[in-house]
Amino acid sequence: MTFQPNVAGTLSFLETKKRQLLIDNQWVDSSGSDTLGSIDPANGQTLAEIVDANAEDVDRAVASSRKALHSTAWSQMTPAERGRLLWKLGELMEANIDELAELETLDQGKPLFVGRWAEIPGAVEQFRFFGGATSKIEGSTIPTSINYQPEGKQMFAYTRKEPIGVVAAIVPWNSPLVLTAMKLAPALAAGCTVVLKPAEDTSLTALRLGELIIEAGFPPGVVNIVTGKGSTTGAALAAHDDVDKVAFTGSTETGRAILDAAKSNLKKVTLELGGKSPVIVLADADLELAIPGAANAIFFNGGQVCVAGSRLYAHSSIFDQLVEGVSTAANDLKLGHGLDPSVQMGPLVNARQAQRVEKFIRQASADGCELVTGGKAIDGDGFFVEPTVIANVKNDMEIVREEVFGPVLVCQSFDDIEQVTSLANDSKYGLAASIWTESLSHAHRMAEKVRAGTVWINCHSMYDASLPIGGMKQSGWGRDSGVQAINNYLEVKTVCAVI
Ligand code: NAD
Repeated sequence: MTFQPNVAGTLSFLETKKRQLLIDNQWVDSSGSDTLGSIDPANGQTLAEIVDANAEDVDRAVASSRKALHSTAWSQMTPAERGRLLWKLGELMEANIDELAELETLDQGKPLFVGRWAEIPGAVEQFRFFGGATSKIEGSTIPTSINYQPEGKQMFAYTRKEPIGVVAAIVPWNSPLVLTAMKLAPALAAGCTVVLKPAEDTSLTALRLGELIIEAGFPPGVVNIVTGKGSTTGAALAAHDDVDKVAFTGSTETGRAILDAAKSNLKKVTLELGGKSPVIVLADADLELAIPGAANAIFFNGGQVCVAGSRLYAHSSIFDQLVEGVSTAANDLKLGHGLDPSVQMGPLVNARQAQRVEKFIRQASADGCELVTGGKAIDGDGFFVEPTVIANVKNDMEIVREEVFGPVLVCQSFDDIEQVTSLANDSKYGLAASIWTESLSHAHRMAEKVRAGTVWINCHSMYDASLPIGGMKQSGWGRDSGVQAINNYLEVKTVCAVI
């Protein structure tokens, strides 16, 4: 059965099959002719052609952002006006939320409810939250101990916070709009200008956002959007000498490439990278919460979530019950096209990702793991992989160590809290973790010991614009969201005067 979008805005957006780049608030062609297909991963159909922007296109976008940074229209805009623009963009997104959710489902594959009720409202909140932050950027006056100023004079020192400059925002395909908002909102609140590069598989909602950015009234060049591959457009942006900062979300491997590219002009970098997050269920956990919680932690968005709870550690007294409960939940999930309102899990984003996930599962079987449920790709035009639960694993196996980024859960039992803390921490990643227990003491003591940027207690994947998110170890540098995220886009200038 084919599912079609039914929001008028989605249908009219999809009428334009050949998309362009956004530079200076104008939709423009590339100087080259390379394009990429935007594919609906649930059925393999091409939705549109996007530009694979070349280095010359990237130059044009960066020059436009540089000019906008110094323009009176942007640099002299009052913080209150800047805040109103951000707020307005959030309002426009909300007014078009059904369309944005349909587009995200078509382009990325996620079930409609994920975009409509979780991710896009989360994106809107980013613009509201940081819209309120524009007027709270403060320096400080600093009493110094300098005592060699001329006779009769005194020192006066203070700091100013200034926008870092031109920001390249490079984002992945798993949750396109909300991850874009997590970069754009604080960067614009800080007074930076941005060249946005969405992921090549999921650029459509970023392009629709570009239309809303123009409608909201942002001055030309404040946000430019270049679509294209990582190896072409992304690499050109990350290495560009007139970019002051790269704000990146994506895989740890690409994060390393970004760092290499950033060396050219020592541009600033923040990195939100991969994870292999543990879900730790203690013997006293409320299993009515923990079983659906653990299932949702891994199967939400088909496991294509940086903080996905992909390693389950359950106390030996409840291990069998947990594995059985999560496996039943996996078997009960309805897979299909995300526009079908009854669907609970969509496809993976592309054929390559589906093959990659299957390869991890095959290797786990070859390593002697027990396939409790799932394990296969589903034949057809879409890129579906069954929700999969794997037991009998050890921490040194590939399936436990590497980020699969698909609906695959590995399960291990433990006997005491020290043992599980050390198992949970035995990973190169440190993005997130959840602890399930009715004991306040255990929960908060473990929260201190687990090396992860976020620890959830009796829940998983709870996001809010006010909560910092980001990783320890190889899960990244810096934090998105939360009031401090604005500092990712600000430089501190010290002014020291003899008066
Ligand atoms: P990816 O690293 O392949 O791509 C991310 C973005 O980088 C894309 O826009 C891509 O085109 C671009 N890119 C690729 N190579 C590049 C290069 N050499 N130079 C510049 N840009 C380049 O990641 P993905 O496969 O799109 O996304 C999945 C990954 O993202 C997972 O590892 C996931 O954990 C991670 N992620 C992390 C967070 C977080 O907050 N920590 C959030 C979501 C996703």
